[in-house]
Amino acid sequence: MRVVMECAIPGKLLCASTSGLWNPRKVVLSRRNTGLSAHNNLCSSKFKIKAQTHHTSQVGIAKPTNLTDSDIQGFVWPSPTDEIPFWKKEFPSWDANLELPSEQTKDSKLMHIVHVTAEMAPIAKVGGLGDVVTGLARACLSRGHTVHIMLPFYECIQKHQINDLTLITTYNSYHDGNWIPTNAYHGVVSGIPVIFLEPSCQFFKGRQVYGGSYNELEAYMFFSRACLEWMQVTGTQPDIIHVHEWQAGALPILYWDMYHHLSLKNPRIVLTIHNMEHYGECRQEQLSMCGLDGSLYATFDKAVDDRTVGHNPERLSLLKGGIVYSNAVVTVSPTYLKETLCSGWLSSTLMRNRDKYFGIVNGIDTTMWNPSTDVFLPSKFNVKNSEGKKLCKYYVQRGLGLASGDHVTDTTLKVPLVVCITRLVAQKGLHLITHAIKQVEELGGQMVVLGKAPDHRVEREFEDLADSLNQGPSIRILLMYSEELSHLLYAAADIVLVPSMYEPCGLAQMIGMRYGAVPVVRKTGGLADTVFDMDDESNHEMANGFVFEGMDEASLNCALDRAFACYRNKPGEWNCIVKKVMKMDNSWNNTARKYIEIYESVTAS
Ligand code: ADP
Repeated sequence: MRVVMECAIPGKLLCASTSGLWNPRKVVLSRRNTGLSAHNNLCSSKFKIKAQTHHTSQVGIAKPTNLTDSDIQGFVWPSPTDEIPFWKKEFPSWDANLELPSEQTKDSKLMHIVHVTAEMAPIAKVGGLGDVVTGLARACLSRGHTVHIMLPFYECIQKHQINDLTLITTYNSYHDGNWIPTNAYHGVVSGIPVIFLEPSCQFFKGRQVYGGSYNELEAYMFFSRACLEWMQVTGTQPDIIHVHEWQAGALPILYWDMYHHLSLKNPRIVLTIHNMEHYGECRQEQLSMCGLDGSLYATFDKAVDDRTVGHNPERLSLLKGGIVYSNAVVTVSPTYLKETLCSGWLSSTLMRNRDKYFGIVNGIDTTMWNPSTDVFLPSKFNVKNSEGKKLCKYYVQRGLGLASGDHVTDTTLKVPLVVCITRLVAQKGLHLITHAIKQVEELGGQMVVLGKAPDHRVEREFEDLADSLNQGPSIRILLMYSEELSHLLYAAADIVLVPSMYEPCGLAQMIGMRYGAVPVVRKTGGLADTVFDMDDESNHEMANGFVFEGMDEASLNCALDRAFACYRNKPGEWNCIVKKVMKMDNSWNNTARKYIEIYESVTAS
């Protein structure tokens, strides 16, 4: 039964200022009367910094070289004692800035592409998946394609972040013997039309995207089927259904073994694997909950988890099923493609499907990540005029209590500032991150870690480190997720550190470069495809950072030492690298075309 209801939900109120340029003075003026916190410690959940001697104040006295009077006069600096931390201030609406680039040439064959995903930046972002879906969707829209994103309507999504949110369909979708009434809403986020699915059960309830008190595997299988069911009830027949990660891994199976035999004929399926570590382990009975006979998929050539063959019970993998049943499979860098063909239990499945398996390095959305328009930055900058970057650095140093004294001084600005912005999970090289903290301190630099640990033991370990180091003059460990602070840190950083054990693509190094931070990375996956060592004589043209190979502390030390030495002893050379990395084009313009070619190669007509 299909019931269509038109029901207006109040849309997002856009900020009146669409100029996109945030005037720090304006914002700070409105904050000036808030005064200082009664406490000497700023305590924002996981952020504790003892107040230094300085307070929020105007600065304009000790002018460092190259900063002009107009840069610093009237500038009001944040302080760790501010009642509202500097990254939580009211910023102009971000979305208002995000028009699609209109100058992009249109593709000749235009398609309808629907992404089915568990994440979307900025409204439901946990890591790079969210950035990639939004960036690729925007790139394809600007090339003239019709694009939709289908996303669970997580309870944690703030409705005011969605433009023109409207209930468009109420329909039933199957789960475990029941037909669950489900609302489909339409809204616009960052210029992209989004269909939000909201089942009337407990799925997707909770304060975070992941980790709610429902069975995640069952929820995403429900979502996968609900997307197809919605297409069927509304007669939507896209050319491409682009599914992401294990969460949508059941969709290709459901499509080819169920909905294609019903009314969906036109779509072809592309799967992008952003991280092979998560493979959607699933029991046969669980797969049966979405209406398939789970026992039929427990074979080597379908969805059995190869490692469990002969075990009782054998397990299935939604990711493997997705690989087998998709028309094309993409992973997010050529090096990760090679790595996954050589190792890991999915390698034999990938080898068997080699002809349809591609490696395309991710892009970054250069409108969302643009230091010359970024609404979160106190001062904008670009490759031709990078003075604003110094102001951003000093702003962050002041706000985090890393600046010495009340005045802009060369001494503070000359301390190399390293940032590491990451999910705190083993993949990201936790032992190297903790080691880097010590090493940077020893080298007389400063380091800020912005990270969230889903594992409580890891969280406690970093909390202990934060407790012992956050009061000091050089290290800040901020255990939280903050999009705003991440923009400020990339802008402030001299060095962005990505010491991952493995890294399918990695966005932090590309974003960092766009904001003039030189990358120090481990040579793995997409890091190996995007960062090339400064001291590699054979590849001087591409050289743009400092690379190490080993997983040990000595290897990391070597790269950090070289970066610090260059920063300190060869400022001219350092400035050249900064300019070079800012000029690099890691935008979707470069890579979206490769996705389009894959879409074209698999479409039905
Ligand atoms: P992954 O997808 O494995 O998390 P990526 O490097 O591909 O790693 O993407 C990470 C994205 O998430 C980047 O945009 C990074 O800035 C962002 N990010 C990671 N941790 C945080 C955090 N604690 N706060 C804000 N942004 C974060």
